[in-house]
Amino acid sequence: IGAQKDRVLTVEEWLQKWETGAAAFHKEQGHPLLQKYLDVLLNGRSGLRIFFPLCGKAVDMKRLADMGHSIIGVDVSEQALKEFFADQSLPYCEEPVPGISGAKKLQSTSGNICLYCCSIYDLSSAIVGKFDGVWDRGALVAVNPCDRQRYVSLMISLMEKNSSYLLVTVLYDPNKHKGPPFYVPESEVKSLFG
Ligand code: SAH
Repeated sequence: IGAQKDRVLTVEEWLQKWETGAAAFHKEQGHPLLQKYLDVLLNGRSGLRIFFPLCGKAVDMKRLADMGHSIIGVDVSEQALKEFFADQSLPYCEEPVPGISGAKKLQSTSGNICLYCCSIYDLSSAIVGKFDGVWDRGALVAVNPCDRQRYVSLMISLMEKNSSYLLVTVLYDPNKHKGPPFYVPESEVKSLFG
């Protein structure tokens, strides 16, 4: 953990990953753990507002939208978000976001998928509302280690009272790989989320 503590990836480095086709974290198939724990996320509820922080072009956004949920995502890469709509053959429209200069909101014409192109740290519940569920795959583990507490505090502020949060982490020796994905031990997950 110590080995990764000071590592920082800039927004430019993330944009570059998308530009150079180095976005190796993207999966063409839906995530098996979302499939496995979907019932926990939904908890018998329907028509939820589900948040995908640091969403990339995750195909699961389309799958959950098709099930009748409303999907909100955020990513700094406009390329990733546009590729999502293109890959899924979904028409969308684009508009500025009042309150966040330079940000864009890309919304499917059908209205049930709304992706913000900006830094997650620009969001607040005043702008995006609160969520009934969160799918965090490649988000907490992608956030710079120095920003974890800020990220988690923001996520908590975006959650409704009864919301559920599914978090995917990875286990490996942090001395052997510099990340991302960063190694976030379970004890830290517990202390971060309280
Ligand atoms: N959740 C996706 C992508 C994971 S990779 C998946 O599972 O495939 C992490 C993503 O976070 C990248 O797409 C990167 O562009 C985005 N990102 C990095 N820092 C960000 C920030 N501060 N705000 C919003 N998005 C960010």
